[in-house]
Amino acid sequence: MEISSLHTWIGKAKQPVVIAGPCSAENRDQLLQTVGALASTQSVDMIRAGLWKPRTRPDGFEGVGKQGLEWLSEAKKLYGLPFCTEVATPEHIEMALKYGADALWIGARTTVNPFSVQILADALRSVDIAVMVKNPLHPDLKLWIGAIERISNAGITKLAAIHRGFYTYDNKPYRNLPMWEIPIELKRLLPQLPVFTDPSHISGNRSLIAGVAQRALDLSMDGLMIESHIDPDCALTDAAQQITPQQLLELLEKLVIRHEFGNTEFENKLEKLRFDIDQLDHELINILARRNEKNKQIGHYKKENGITVLQMDRLRKMIQERMGYGMKLNLDPSFVLKLLQLVHKESVRLQTNIMQSEDENEV
Ligand code: PEP
Ligand code: MN
Repeated sequence: MEISSLHTWIGKAKQPVVIAGPCSAENRDQLLQTVGALASTQSVDMIRAGLWKPRTRPDGFEGVGKQGLEWLSEAKKLYGLPFCTEVATPEHIEMALKYGADALWIGARTTVNPFSVQILADALRSVDIAVMVKNPLHPDLKLWIGAIERISNAGITKLAAIHRGFYTYDNKPYRNLPMWEIPIELKRLLPQLPVFTDPSHISGNRSLIAGVAQRALDLSMDGLMIESHIDPDCALTDAAQQITPQQLLELLEKLVIRHEFGNTEFENKLEKLRFDIDQLDHELINILARRNEKNKQIGHYKKENGITVLQMDRLRKMIQERMGYGMKLNLDPSFVLKLLQLVHKESVRLQTNIMQSEDENEV
């Protein structure tokens, strides 16, 4: 696969490359004010704005369409920043090109469908433009790579992927689970391909964005796509996850840029292994949080039905089953026993609180 390096189309050497802009272009003032404020941060390399919004339900704001392209090209002239937008049909591509879009992206709902991606790839044949492919909604790396290959086969070399997280049944605390192992595997398989992380769609709310962005940099992702709106609370789409240009600047200034490689082979290896451990620890903590939530549900159920917190028979069977399961995975049974006793102790504490609370909301 022929892939041009990122700075051939997003001229910048310093890390991280930042694409920012509103989830949706809403009106001329909103767009021009947002782009003006983003330009004055001097930290944004490309503007993003959605014009045709893929909405789950038919009654929401579905984007301003072509009119937004006029505002985007006006903003480009005024502030000198290139822009990109999401395309889902050949007509979208044609219009975006006519108005001088510098890059296009394929959204998560389009990447899931190879027919749709192929139609876009055919429309992109012999066009010189950068194309970014968002991951499909669900965690399917092959489908993501397949979409990238279709675009590459159409002759596009200015290619990138955007990691926007994955929908699974239980995404808490995220809107879309990052599942970092997937973009990492994508990087392993396609080392030349630049990968952006979209902390906004992963997070779904402002408070998680900085942590996801830092993690993306620590895992050597090449850039960030972050939604920024001049007045986030009044945004017509994705209000909870948008931040002001000033908040974006503060967030970017706080990011710690670490170097992928240490000075020695030993340090490189150690650093890589530690990244893996950090990731696994986060998964472990996420699982424990989900386990506690289930335990609380059980606690309420026990309370309603007058059942005791502790049932020795269940505990005995559970520990025995888990120790056997752990042994199959080469875990020391006494370690599994100690871990489960600790986890169970916490469950008992949570359920006891529920039993003792007068007001359920206090728990
Ligand atoms: C977006 O970027 O506004 C968008 C709709 O994203 P996604 O395709 O990742 O859901
Ligand atoms: Mn959005």
